[in-house]
Amino acid sequence: MKKVILIIFLLLFWQQCFCWGFYAHKKINNYAVFLLPPKMLVLYKSHIDFVTEHAVDPDMRRYAVAEEGARHYIDIDHYGQYPFDSLPRKWNDAVTKFSEDSLQKYGIVPWWVQIMLHRLTDAFKEKNQAKILKLSAEIGHYIADAHVPLHVNSNHNGQYTNQQGIHGFWESRVPELLADKEWDFFIGKAEYVKNPASFIWQRVLESAAAADTVLRYEKELTTQFPADQKFSFENRNGVTIRQYSSAFTKAYDTKLKGMVERRMRLAIFSVASFWYTAWVNAGEPDLTKLSNKEFSTDELKEFDNLNNAWKNNKIKGRQHE
Ligand SMILES: [Zn+2]
Repeated sequence: MKKVILIIFLLLFWQQCFCWGFYAHKKINNYAVFLLPPKMLVLYKSHIDFVTEHAVDPDMRRYAVAEEGARHYIDIDHYGQYPFDSLPRKWNDAVTKFSEDSLQKYGIVPWWVQIMLHRLTDAFKEKNQAKILKLSAEIGHYIADAHVPLHVNSNHNGQYTNQQGIHGFWESRVPELLADKEWDFFIGKAEYVKNPASFIWQRVLESAAAADTVLRYEKELTTQFPADQKFSFENRNGVTIRQYSSAFTKAYDTKLKGMVERRMRLAIFSVASFWYTAWVNAGEPDLTKLSNKEFSTDELKEFDNLNNAWKNNKIKGRQHE
């Protein structure tokens, strides 16, 4: 019986691990809206609930579509040492050198963000409101993922160093405990991104440079912390879950000197700046005069399918927990 209970605890614990966590992804898209200029705010502010809620659609899609997983990460350490010059930054050059299969295997987030930017720009050109909102919500997700150190490292859940759970710890537990109460999200304004490819690669390289610290500090703290105080049990919706204790979480955040907050703030800035860039590159269309204001039956069906897949399926294809 004890064993069964323990397994249930562990399962619940693992299910906590999403990219940035649903909580942080929603916050990032939500706060990004307020960095936009008035001409964009007219659309985004009146649909802020949609852009917020659908920030997590790409994670849900991992339960429905096998190809989805690779779009959320890149195991860049697979390509050697920082700054990973052996990996061509242009997709076609990278395909020629490593093959598409191999690129898909080790993750494609920096390229996928660029594809999404292209699609969002087209949606603005088409003045298609439903598309603009859907693609804005989704590109926000992928950009945010590129800011997470463990999304650009093959030891993404500490599985090679006996630190399983660290993925969700950094990107879910830490912000859930501290973001609302202690962090500052006054960020300023979105900026035009002249070179989106080099911008997103820069964020990926920063994440890569931080991954070692993310892992090493957790390990150091674990050796300094009383073993029975690292985790705590908490009741959530009538179910007991095991999680990193508040004390351990705060100590980790202090040791990281605000890294999670900094990456989250930068993610918000990046998301808003990509939305803004797509709109500018589309010729700054008047967002009070858009077509396709309602989602089509197919789009509504897709939202339902994503939700059902997430509730009922296991993740398909490759993934970072
Ligand atoms: Zn993700």
